Amino acid sequence: MTDTPALGGPGLPQQRRLVTPIPGPRSQESFERRRRLVPQGVGTTLPVFVEAAGGGVLVDVDGNSLIDLASGIAVTSVGNSAPAVVERAVEQTRRFTHTCFMVTPYDGYVDVCEQLADLTPGDHDKKTLLLNSGAEAVENAVKIARAHTGRTAVAVVDHAYHGRTNLTMAMTAKSMPYKHGFGPFAGEVYRAPMSYPFREPTAISGEQAAERTIDVLEKQVGAASLSCLVIEPILGEGGFVVPADGYLPRLREWTENSGIVLVADEIQTGFCRTGDWFACDHEGVVPDLVTTAKGIAGGFPLAAVTGRAEMMDAVHVGGLGGTYGGNPVACAAALGAIETMRDEDLPARAREIGALVGERLAAIADKHPAVGDVRGRGAMMAIEIVGADGRTPDAARAGAVSAHCHEQGVVTLTCGTYGNVLRFLPPLATTDALLTEGFDVVAAAFDATA
Ligand SMILES: *Cc1c(COP(=O)(O)O)cnc(C)c1O
Repeated sequence: MTDTPALGGPGLPQQRRLVTPIPGPRSQESFERRRRLVPQGVGTTLPVFVEAAGGGVLVDVDGNSLIDLASGIAVTSVGNSAPAVVERAVEQTRRFTHTCFMVTPYDGYVDVCEQLADLTPGDHDKKTLLLNSGAEAVENAVKIARAHTGRTAVAVVDHAYHGRTNLTMAMTAKSMPYKHGFGPFAGEVYRAPMSYPFREPTAISGEQAAERTIDVLEKQVGAASLSCLVIEPILGEGGFVVPADGYLPRLREWTENSGIVLVADEIQTGFCRTGDWFACDHEGVVPDLVTTAKGIAGGFPLAAVTGRAEMMDAVHVGGLGGTYGGNPVACAAALGAIETMRDEDLPARAREIGALVGERLAAIADKHPAVGDVRGRGAMMAIEIVGADGRTPDAARAGAVSAHCHEQGVVTLTCGTYGNVLRFLPPLATTDALLTEGFDVVAAAFDATA
């Protein structure tokens, strides 16, 4: 513990260094306060209290330096307190902190919209609405799709995660913990099967999986009733499921022919994470609307809906907005984050990280039959853990491996409908040395829990 607060950012020593057990005494003290003052409904992955962070490490209040393989759930892709984010946010904070864009506008908002028009898939005319959270972006994409089509039904897929507000809870697949006890949910939301290659009873192509999705929606809802299909190009909370090649292109073709708005929820996959600017780029899929958040602003709360100009303009004047949407400090931070991604070619860095991590995970899979599947793309990689039959989800083992990593000072996350997926989302600003050491710890955690 230092007396002066540590400065974060990439200048922090990029090392794993444990000086107390995890969590240390000060973190435990803070956690007691948290227990008293914060509801238990807000979960905790790893109960260390953070004092500074940057590059690929988090430093806690006991002076431990931990390797970050989570990025605060795919948010700090450019690293915590990235210099361009800090400089622009501080400068903006000194000039003004809020006017409400709907009352008196400012350039920073429009600058972010210009960046998104340039970076998101497709070269059609685009407009962008800025908001505060991913869930809010998804809600607004649905509002826009309904206004544009004059239809009400919303299609989503199995294992989807779209947020925690009422509409997005309805769109999210998993009951516990996201929906349990919180109904009634918004109506007119319909769920269809997803392409989940590891769990298909027999191997099917992406096109065949798409036909199965389409068949359910056409027979059970009717294409003419559907305003939009909202889909994550790679499932996030649902288990880092990468659909079979051809699945998304076939859905793009069908939605286009049926007048259904295709909304790509790129909130977790976007902004270089998968090795492209957006995961849809991988197969050249051009959605009508794209929702973004998480990685967009280096840790500041900002979210967006970017889409075809004529669809975005389907909503009447005053029908979109919010007090804080596109806050000027968050916009300045986003411009700093995007500048960093461009200058440092972070899509290429995500591909390098994917190669390194993929190799390490393959080696773990060779040694441990509990690894049923290694999957993901770029710096969004995961392993699905199963029992002796090679199929039954083993959430207990995933939890044990993760807990072992935490004790050793490596921040890992789990996910998946069955809770049996270990996912890795390192900051793109991390070093190869930290990744190598981090995955040494992950490998040792598999050995220790075998
Ligand atoms: C995190 C996430 C959301 C919700 O974003 P919040 O900012 O937490 O509201 C929605 N969709 C996807 C794919 C996400 O990963």
